Amino acid sequence: MSTSPGTAQGPSPQGTERVRGQNLSRILTLLHRQGPLSRAELTRLCGFNRSTVGALVSELAQLGLAYETEPAAARRVGRPSPLVHANENVAAIAVHPDVDAVTVGLVGLGGKVHRRIRYDAGSLPTVADTVSISRSVVEGMSSELAAMTLIAGIGAAVPALVNSNDGTVLLAPHLNWSDEPLAAELSAGLGLPARAANDANLGSLAESLFGAAVGESDVVYLNGSASGIGGGALVGGVPLRGATGYAGELGHTVVNDAGSLCHCGRRGCLETEVSLSRLLAILGLEHADQDQLEASMAGNSSPELVAESHRQLDLLAAALTDFVNIFNPGVIVLGGFLGVLHSFVPGRLEAAVADGAIGGLGAEVRIRRAALGSELLLVGAAELVFAGLLADPSSAGALPAGVQAWLPASAGEVLPASAGEAVEVPASARGHRTD
Ligand SMILES: [Zn+2]
Repeated sequence: MSTSPGTAQGPSPQGTERVRGQNLSRILTLLHRQGPLSRAELTRLCGFNRSTVGALVSELAQLGLAYETEPAAARRVGRPSPLVHANENVAAIAVHPDVDAVTVGLVGLGGKVHRRIRYDAGSLPTVADTVSISRSVVEGMSSELAAMTLIAGIGAAVPALVNSNDGTVLLAPHLNWSDEPLAAELSAGLGLPARAANDANLGSLAESLFGAAVGESDVVYLNGSASGIGGGALVGGVPLRGATGYAGELGHTVVNDAGSLCHCGRRGCLETEVSLSRLLAILGLEHADQDQLEASMAGNSSPELVAESHRQLDLLAAALTDFVNIFNPGVIVLGGFLGVLHSFVPGRLEAAVADGAIGGLGAEVRIRRAALGSELLLVGAAELVFAGLLADPSSAGALPAGVQAWLPASAGEVLPASAGEAVEVPASARGHRTD
C-alpha cells in the first residue's frame, strides 16, 4: 500500500469499517463454535485489547447476536469477567428430505437444536412436497418461532449432487429428482433466503465443528441413511472438493463383485451391500431413524440380525481399509445407521481395518461414531445459513424479522395429499461445549 509523500494518513473510513466487520466476525465465530466465553478469554483468544473486545461484544448485543451473563461467583479470583454467549435464539430452519421422511428443525447459533420434527412422507417426497411439508411443520412451531430473535434463513441437506452455489439439486437418484431448483423453491415457499448442499458434506462439517472430529485435520466421514451412503474427506484441514465439486462419493466403492446392481451401473457398491433396508427387513420395520433403529436392534438377538450385521461390518471394513490406504486419516467418523452398526458389534471394524490396511496405518486410525446423532444433518444444514451471518454479523440488520410475518395469515394450510405422520423428536441432552 502506498501513501502520498508528506501526508500522514490513518486508515480510510472504509478500511476501518472492514476491520471492524472482521473483528465482529472473529468474536461471533468463536462464540458459535466454542460456546460461551468470558471477555477475558475472548481478549486472550483474539489478541484484541479489553476495550476493543468490550465494544465488539456491545455491538454484537445490539445486533441481537450475543448476550452476556454474570459468571459463576466462585469460579475465579479477582474481578469476574462476564460470560459472552452467541444468541441461540438466532436460528436457521434446517430441512432434510430423504426417501422416507422430511425432517425439519429449528437450529440456533451454537448448534442448538430447539425443535426437530420428522415427517414420514409416505412415499418419495417431491420438491413441492418438501416445500409444503417444511412450511406446514414450521407453522406448527409457532410458539418456538415467537421466542426467536431472528430467523436467518433456510438450509437444506440433500442426499444428492447439489450445486451449492445456487442450491440446485443436479441429481438425487434415490429421491428421483434431477435438475431441481430446491433452494429457490424453499425460498419462495417460506419467504426466507435458502441454501442447499450435499448431506454428507454438511454432516462432515458439523462433526468437524461440534462433534467427533473437532480439531482434526485429516478425516474420512461416512454417513448411512435410507438413501445410501454418502461421504466426505477433510485433507490437511481442507474439505476435498474435486475438480467440479463432487468428490466424496465413497458409497460407490465396489466391495462385492458379485453383489447387487447399483443405480450407478456397477455391481456390489458399498451402499448396495451395506444398507439400512436390509437391516430393516430383518427387524420387520418399514422405516426408522437412527434412534429407532438402535432401540430395535438392541432388543433383537436373532441369528439373522447377527449374521447380517457381521456381513455388513466386514464389507464396510473392506471399504474403510481402502480409505485408510488412500487418505491416511487420523479419524474416521461414522454417521447414521453406520454408527449404529459400529456400536452393535464393538471392536469388529477396528480389528478388520487394523489387520487390512497397509503399513500398520489401520492400527493408528481412530474409528468414531458421529457425536451429533440424529441432529447431525440439521446442525450441518444450519451452518449453510450461519456461514453468511458469521462472516458478516452486521448483515443481521438487513434480514427479515423472521417467518412470524407470514404465520397468522397462512396458518392452517393443509399438508400434501400423500401426507403421513409427523413425529416430534425430543431434542437431545447434548449441551454446549464450554471447553
Ligand atoms: Zn454404485
